[in-house]
This record gives sequence, structure tokens and C-alpha cells, in this order.
Amino acid sequence: MRFTSTRAKKDVESATAICQGLSDEGGLFVPQSFPKISDQLIEKLCQSDYQQRAFEILKLYLTDFTDDEIRYCVHGAYENKFDDNNPAPLKAVFGNANLLELWHGPTCAFKDMALQLLPYLLTKSAAKVSDGKTMVILVATSGDTGKAALDGFADVENTKIIVFYPEDGVSPMQKRQMTTQEGQNVAVCAIKGNFDDAQTGVKAIFGDQDMKAYLANKNMEFSSANSINFGRLVPQVVYYVSAYCDLINSGKIKKGETFNVVVPTGNFGNILAAFYAKQMGIPIGKLICASNKNNVLTDFIETGIYDKNRQFFTTVSPSMDILISSNLERLLYHLYNGDTKTVGGLMQALKAEGTYRVSDEVLQKIKADFFGGYCDEQETQKTIHELFTKYHYLCDTHTAVAVKVYNDYVAKTGDQTQTVIASTASPYKFAASVLPCVTGDDLPADDFEKVELLSRLTGTAIPAPLAALQTKPVLHKTCCEKQEMGAFIKSFLN
Ligand SMILES: *Cc1c(COP(=O)(O)O)cnc(C)c1O
Repeated sequence: MRFTSTRAKKDVESATAICQGLSDEGGLFVPQSFPKISDQLIEKLCQSDYQQRAFEILKLYLTDFTDDEIRYCVHGAYENKFDDNNPAPLKAVFGNANLLELWHGPTCAFKDMALQLLPYLLTKSAAKVSDGKTMVILVATSGDTGKAALDGFADVENTKIIVFYPEDGVSPMQKRQMTTQEGQNVAVCAIKGNFDDAQTGVKAIFGDQDMKAYLANKNMEFSSANSINFGRLVPQVVYYVSAYCDLINSGKIKKGETFNVVVPTGNFGNILAAFYAKQMGIPIGKLICASNKNNVLTDFIETGIYDKNRQFFTTVSPSMDILISSNLERLLYHLYNGDTKTVGGLMQALKAEGTYRVSDEVLQKIKADFFGGYCDEQETQKTIHELFTKYHYLCDTHTAVAVKVYNDYVAKTGDQTQTVIASTASPYKFAASVLPCVTGDDLPADDFEKVELLSRLTGTAIPAPLAALQTKPVLHKTCCEKQEMGAFIKSFLN
């Protein structure tokens, strides 16, 4: 398996794609073709546990890794790190809806599925292609990526990790998780701006030649733990394949029978992984892209016009408060059949004018695979309330967006296909927003009292990593202007 870039012809192996994060001309790495999952392999995977499923899928992409290396990485990532024996359990909750719970990892959001594995993939890759350099991981986060990357990379040899988050754009629990992070190699900095500012700042630093030289001097090299890194994408493909096997095993579908997938979407990484699974032969029907009030993707799927020139909203589902969905670039590359010139042009237009329009042919392809919908703040809260009172299932705000858009989709189409809904965070991570959906009483002001009240009212357990935060000291207090991100990095690396 070889990799190329969305904006220029390249021919590299997975280790280079993973170490570089972003291709040097600014494109994202993509596989040159999609490996197919044979019927035989599916049969084998149906009999396998999660780690074995992950091993088999990773092997199809990481052909420059040995079997032992992949096994070592998978074992390190998933053994004893998740509070459920299966890191991605599939739960039948109502009608044809099965919730794929992706938040049983150490930071209680789906980012753990990839970010527990990425440090292993990255250090193995660096050993192959970056001769002993220290990898400096730069992260822009809307909340969940930051903590998941910090947890994955803390005290990993030959790495340093620097996380930027929007000062007012994350939940109290998310902020607490990041600012209390321990580790010799970690730095965390709030910025005065929103997530797109943080992401744009990080991308600019990646492309900054002075900064590159500064690092090279110290025998260091930048890499990324954001979902622009291909190493984030493959681990996410695994759980869609795994969900397919679980649907077969539970008798809900037969082998080869179609199922739909719903994903609460921000940067388009998670839903893109489902699209990859489909290209590999998994019988996924509709990919339902659920957005919150920042509904730039809903409009795009409807009209073929991507337009980020619109008001930015801070919502109760902050991990989806995004106007520039980076991974959409990969989808465009595949739908334009690898036409790097056109994709580069569209991305140039996005940068210069904040908008672009895809061809009618590509729009037809998008509509064939995707359905887009969105859910506002009130509906998000109503959905949490209903799911809990009707089915005694407590979900977080992001998952609620997905459930609401799924219900809208079924109401509109009457589609009765079995459906996998990605449940992307523990409700306890967003307790301040979830709690008022299950009680009308006055809420305590303290974040941890909220968490305890939520547990008492719903009879569900507080995830241990969140309970443990209460007594941890705040270690990271810096807040900088967005123009000062480079200076912060330099002072940390000194
Ligand atoms: C990151 C995140 C999302 C959005 O995922 P993308 O891959 O960026 O589309 C949704 N929900 C939660 C809880 C997240 O942390």
C-alpha cells in the first residue's frame, strides 16, 4: 500500500504519511487505492475479538509494518485501557437503531479509539523513517482531541506534545481534563479565539519554514495528532467493520446485507472512516452526516456549495463547532478520482474566499452516499430527555444530535434499514448540558456536584477518569493571542 497527497502526486509508505501528518504542499495523505475485505476475512473477523479485528484491518494499510509491530501497537492501545472488554460495544437501543459506544477509553470520547493507538504507530514510524528525531506533536482541539492526544502521548519517549484550545470553546470538564494533564513532555495553551482560529494557526505553523528550521536545529520534527493525520483514520475504520460483524453475530442482519451509519460530525474524520469502510466492501447504505447549529455540511450535501462565510455558534456539542471540516478534502479527492489539481483549486478557493462549489457530477455522487441533517440546541436537549425517559438510555449532546438527525431521516424516507449510530462521548463529559435534560430542579454550581447528581438521578456510573479529576491540581494556565502560538511553542521547546 502506497500513499499520495490530495493536492500533488506523491508515492510514500504509511510510515512517512504518519510522521509527516500533512504533505509538504499542504494536502492530506490518502491511500492510492482501497484494499478490499474479502468474504473470507469477514467470516474470520466475525469470530474475532476487537484487537484481532484491528490487527487485520490495519495490516491492509500499514504494509510497511511487520505483523509483530502491528500486534504490539494494537495490544498497547487496547489492552486494559478501556473500561469495557470490548472497546466499541454495539447496543440496540430503540427500533432499528444500534448505538456504537466509542467512549469507553481513558478520556471518555471516541478520539481515544485512534489516539490510544497513534503514539504507537507514530513512534514505530519515526524509527523507520525519521532517524532518531524527536517528534513534536502539534494539536488544535475543540476539546476532545486535546485530552485524548495528551493522554496517549504523555511521557512517550522521543515525543513532545503541544495542545491549543479555544479559551471559551470547551466544556468545563474538557478544560479540567487538559489543564490538569501530567507528563514531562506536555504543554497546553488556551488561545483567544475559536477552534477554527486554533486549527488555522497550527496549519500555518506546519507550513512555516523558519519554524521548521528552528526544530531541525534541535533534531526535532513536527507531526500532527489531528484527524488530518492518516494514522487517525485507519483505527476509526476498524470500529465500523467491527460493528458490521456484531450486527451479523447478533442476527440483526445477514452477511452482505446493507446497514446505515449515522455520525455526529465536525471535522469529517469519523464519517470519512465509515466511507472508507464502504469503499473496502462493507455493505454500508446511507452515510448520515449529523451537524449541530453549525450546519455548513448540511448545506454542502444539499447544494454542493461549501460556504464557511457564516456566523459561528458556540453550542452544547462543542466538539462539532467547526466551520472548516478538514477531512472533506479527502472525500473530494476520492470523488474527483484523484484529480489533485481540481482539489487543490477548491482548497485554494476555500482559503481565499471561504467558499467553493463542486461539479454536478460530484454532487450526485455525494447525494448517492450521504444524507445531511442538523439539530439545534433545543432539539438536542429534547432528544436527550426523550431517549432517557422512553428507553432509559443516557446519551451526551453530540450523540443526541446524531439521534435526532437519524429520526428526521427515518421520518422523511421511511427507511427501516438497521442502523449504527456513533455514540461519541460519555454523557458525563458534558454533564452541565445533559443534567438539565433529566431534571427540572435547580442545578448545583460546582461541576463535580453536577456529575454526582447526574449519577444519582440516572443510576449510571461516573467514569473513573472523570471522577479522579476532582483532586488533580491545575498545571497549565497560559492563555495567548492567536498570533502568539509560535512564540509559545518556541518557549516550551527551549
Ligand atoms: C471530535 C468529536 C466529534 C466530531 O468528529 P469528527 O471526526 O471531527 O467529525 C463528535 N463528537 C465528539 C464527542 C467528538 O469528540
